[in-house]
Amino acid sequence: MPDNSTDSPLTDLRGLTLQELTDFIVELGEPGFRARQIFSWLYRPGISSFSAMTNLSLAFRARLENIARISCLRVDKREEAGDGTVKYAFKLADNAIIESVLIPDNDRHTLCVSSQAGCAMGCAFCLTGSMGLRRSLTAAEIVNQVIHARNELEAGGKDRINNLVFMGMGEPLANYDNLRRALDILIDDHGLDFSQRRITVSTCGIVPKIEQLGAETRVNLAISLHAADNETRSRLLPINQTYDIAALLKACRAYPLPKRRRIMIEYVLLAGINDSPGDARQLIKILHKLRCKINLLPCNETETLPFKRPERAVVEKFQQILQEAGYTAIIRESRGAEISAACGQLAGKNS
Ligand code: SF4
Repeated sequence: MPDNSTDSPLTDLRGLTLQELTDFIVELGEPGFRARQIFSWLYRPGISSFSAMTNLSLAFRARLENIARISCLRVDKREEAGDGTVKYAFKLADNAIIESVLIPDNDRHTLCVSSQAGCAMGCAFCLTGSMGLRRSLTAAEIVNQVIHARNELEAGGKDRINNLVFMGMGEPLANYDNLRRALDILIDDHGLDFSQRRITVSTCGIVPKIEQLGAETRVNLAISLHAADNETRSRLLPINQTYDIAALLKACRAYPLPKRRRIMIEYVLLAGINDSPGDARQLIKILHKLRCKINLLPCNETETLPFKRPERAVVEKFQQILQEAGYTAIIRESRGAEISAACGQLAGKNS
């Protein structure tokens, strides 16, 4: 039976960075190198108990069983779209539902990870935002989404997860400490061994945390921009009333980018709201000299939100204006819309 309880008195070792695990092990009076041994077991496929950790003594394994645990996530529902996109709904110990989406692209796989159950940011076009925030996820709950999808891929004889994007439910930078802890585990070569180049954190624009992320990591940054003027952006993304476009783009320009890497600008196209040629020209103006590429996301219509998808010709005209100004602008058709797995559609409906 998966152990996913958050109120257990046992310490969940899957939520600890290697340093935190070392502190825990040393406090038990054991040598620090034991922590590295345990850490590398914790992220191997199929490990759910200490009994499998054969390079630890039987007595130490028994001691760990009494004071610690290895959590994993319980799948509430698994849906697969015709294009191969898989949406997992996980039920947490407090019955909150979170969702992750595994998106195949030829032999590559991208996992879209959630950082919170719900979201407090209230972006007008987003179903997760309309739920409000239930709670932030623990580091273990973030990492366990990756472990579950990785295990399923490997059990099916498929390739590994190539890219991780923090674009699922929640605002990752509003759960910064646990995001950082999860990133440490994901990139540790004794943990899940992801390259930071393969991880993208998306934000609606919490400026001080963008600065902190840039100072502390080398992961990619994606910005949910979605409008080129403050009036429209404040209507669509309430965070803009605190950190306006100028403050946000200043933080983006200061974000330390390794050579050849660019910031990803996400722009959802909403008919009659932000999709005019004038909006495209204003976007060119504000993005001046920012090393970026632009993803244009024609809105995924839902029953509950009042936004419409622009005509294809409008989307292509918008793209053309950006391209003629020298920007890389790609029209992204969301995957998995029929199972409500597309951008802005994650709402934990089963809860
Ligand atoms: S778009 Fe992102 S930040 Fe905005 S409400 Fe949705 S999940 Fe939250």
